[in-house]
Amino acid sequence: MIRVTVWGENVHEQTNQTVKALYPNGMHTVIAEGLAEDPELETRTATLQEPEHGLTQEVLDNTDVLTWWGHCAHGKVEDAIVDRVQKRVLEGMGLLVLHSGHYSKIFKRLMGTTCSLTWREAGEKERLWVCNPGHPIVQGLGPYFELPNTEMYGEPFGVPTADETIFISWFEGGEVFRSGLVYRRGNGKIFYFRPGHETYPIYFNKDVKLVLKNAVKWARPEGSIWKDSAPNIPVEKAPEKIQIKGGKLHEEGEAGFK
Ligand code: ZN
Repeated sequence: MIRVTVWGENVHEQTNQTVKALYPNGMHTVIAEGLAEDPELETRTATLQEPEHGLTQEVLDNTDVLTWWGHCAHGKVEDAIVDRVQKRVLEGMGLLVLHSGHYSKIFKRLMGTTCSLTWREAGEKERLWVCNPGHPIVQGLGPYFELPNTEMYGEPFGVPTADETIFISWFEGGEVFRSGLVYRRGNGKIFYFRPGHETYPIYFNKDVKLVLKNAVKWARPEGSIWKDSAPNIPVEKAPEKIQIKGGKLHEEGEAGFK
């Protein structure tokens, strides 16, 4: 089983009538239900409003892949929780960053750039082109799929060049956007996936659900986790016998920064 934690900001579902009507139990619930259609995936949800935003160390230690949806309350996410999520990603936890999660603290932290983009809310059509039909994330899709009503996101997208571009979107209004990007940070795999504006039923769409299921499987940890402790290697433990030459700053066996 792959253990997935679906994180949702869960704000517009409470405050906007359109969003509330589409997602009465929250977008996180619908995303989790979509993933749970696959018997290999075991899902749980967590929201901003829970203590520690539902992302305790225990929850994260028992999460193989975390999905992140946020929009208007990125600034309300505690920095200590962002640190904790980042550490788990570097150890090997997979992370799916969805739609307006491009501006989340965790995504900006992991990218190191502005993550800005252009946008328009006009309910226009989006066509997502598959860039590599052989990639695990696009299995089961044709050359492209379409969403009838979406918010437009356009270039320039202020992110580092991805390890691979999985989707490029074309919008009815004419813009294009790198809609599916994969990265590796430390031992963790990251997938940014653009669709997901909360006033349209994006997370009920069968192709979107398929991409998310595929992406969780792609992002699952491989091998053991990487616990990075930067240990000092004493002279006598060097693989080859060596003599100390020159001056030294640190005592033998000293911990801390070098
Ligand atoms: Zn949006």
